[in-house]
Amino acid sequence: MTKITPQPGILDIAPYQGGQSHVAGVADVVKLSSNENPFGPSDKARAAFARTVHTLHRYPSTDHAALRAAIGEVHGLDPARVICGVGSDEIITFLCQAYAGPGDEVIHTQHGFAMYRISALAAGATPVEVPERDRVVDVDAILAATTPRTRLVFIANPANPTGTMIPAADAARLAEGLPPQALLVLDGAYAEYVEGFDGGAGLVEARQNVVMTRTFSKLYGLGGLRIGWGYGPAAVIDVLNRVRGPFNLSQTQLETAEAAVRDLDHAERCRSENARLRTWLADALNDLGVATDTPWANFVLARFADPAEADACDAFLKSQGLIVRKVAGYQLPDALRITVGDESSCRRVAHAIGRFREAAEQRKAAADGEPTG
Ligand SMILES: *Cc1c(COP(=O)(O)O)cnc(C)c1O
Repeated sequence: MTKITPQPGILDIAPYQGGQSHVAGVADVVKLSSNENPFGPSDKARAAFARTVHTLHRYPSTDHAALRAAIGEVHGLDPARVICGVGSDEIITFLCQAYAGPGDEVIHTQHGFAMYRISALAAGATPVEVPERDRVVDVDAILAATTPRTRLVFIANPANPTGTMIPAADAARLAEGLPPQALLVLDGAYAEYVEGFDGGAGLVEARQNVVMTRTFSKLYGLGGLRIGWGYGPAAVIDVLNRVRGPFNLSQTQLETAEAAVRDLDHAERCRSENARLRTWLADALNDLGVATDTPWANFVLARFADPAEADACDAFLKSQGLIVRKVAGYQLPDALRITVGDESSCRRVAHAIGRFREAAEQRKAAADGEPTG
């Protein structure tokens, strides 16, 4: 008998479930379950990716200087305080590894992104869940939940899977009210989808206790390549760089991301097309009697009458080759998260939900008409 056991907390981790991408027996599926950009990356990013085939025998840059410079230029940030990672997931991992351990608390919110809890547990820390108010992050509830053991507070703005946002003034109030040993992490995975929004960069600049994370997986259409970044106070970025592996990103990742962030036209096209279709989809669902909150990211959270209706609609959509995301694991059992795809996908999913609702109403009318007793 061995005594080989993992560190405390590891076995409490429920493995992350990615969005489904296949339906048995259906060939032509539309995947609207992982908030991917339906248009994919910019042609310039594709070309940069292809060029790196010539340098695959070389080790990559360890300091990511060229990518950090490009991010700094495009976003108006100090490149010395940018850190790049294998998706923003890796930045979240670094933050937990560096700032939270056994006995420490990591706050995430009721419907918050699963990786916060997973990374906190992986670091041996204690995740603390704080309620939201009608699917919106509740700053006062977070402040009330802080203790002398709180080390990290994670919120996404806009949030996933709700798609809701809190105003900049609320984020500032949260940062201001945290105890001195706690760091606020503003996850800006969807920041680019909000016109004119800096993702919290201004708050990072104004304070010493705020970090922002960003990603190339969503607006930039590079989810498959795994590149993200963080921005924070010099002292925090220095700490994170100490736990970062020197070759965490390949030259292919670095050069593709650099070309992607510099292609402002592609980013703007994706942003405006998403905004147009997101409004169209939410309106179409509302017309069908399916409730939504104002969506700020690249998905719409569709709320049904109850969990049974959400499950039945999910099953019907699957039968039509449309894969959306069930979010019962995020304490939203009566909802489905639908990524804003291209125009034809949006029309298909709205049309299918219309047919589902119609059939349900007919069944209900038939049941109501039946003699009882
Ligand atoms: C998609 C997503 C990310 C991005 O993760 P990557 O590791 O950069 O692909 C981060 N946070 C939230 C809330 C997300 O939805």
